[in-house]
Amino acid sequence: MNNPRAGIGMTSARTRGRMVVRLREQGISDAMVLAAMGMVPRHLFIDEALASRAYEDTALPIGFGQTISNPYIVARMTELARNGRELHRVLEVGTGCGYQAAVLAQVAREVVSIERIAALVGQTRKRQRELRLHNIKLKHGDGMQGYAEGAPYDAIVIAAAFGAVPEMLKAQLAEGGRLVMPLGDDNQVLLVVTRKGNAFQEEKLEAVKFVPLLPGVS
Ligand code: SAH
Repeated sequence: MNNPRAGIGMTSARTRGRMVVRLREQGISDAMVLAAMGMVPRHLFIDEALASRAYEDTALPIGFGQTISNPYIVARMTELARNGRELHRVLEVGTGCGYQAAVLAQVAREVVSIERIAALVGQTRKRQRELRLHNIKLKHGDGMQGYAEGAPYDAIVIAAAFGAVPEMLKAQLAEGGRLVMPLGDDNQVLLVVTRKGNAFQEEKLEAVKFVPLLPGVS
């Protein structure tokens, strides 16, 4: 990758390899997701002061009171969203620093990602350009409304917690499409919603901890 921090990228390839080994041990089995995790330079999505911790299994601050999700949860949500399928269009709500979007962009043809904090959108757009992530369409807005122009989506990933599945997002799922989100306030679980015609099948999985999904923009 042709940017001033490319040297860090070179040394991090080995560190990333170790992260992938750990993800496999933690139960991630989708080869395409593991390859994506091995490819995306996670250290370039966070502040340089924290870059040495980029491949630890931990969430890190990205400013504005927000966090980059830990590598396991990014891989897990991507695996659940994909469910072994080829993905055409994917919607992400809660872009943050854009790391999850970059991972999704490796396993889908096109990603639309929505972030409510304008300053984060600006930073992340610049980073996506530098990393030549051209199949991500970044939008500033309230992700609870989704992005109807790009619907239907084969998968929707929500990177912030909410007490219910946002109705507008359910409506933007394609037939057989899957929505993955943290459900709840203090006690959150990972929820997968699968669309079967006009029916929505729900499956609750492990406990998780995400920042809240907030209404409106800032
Ligand atoms: N996807 C990120 C995680 C970001 S944390 C990663 O790769 O690590 C969650 C993000 O969701 C925050 O940036 C927060 O500002 C954003 N968010 C919260 N509510 C939102 C909403 N209604 N619409 C869009 N983004 C929202």
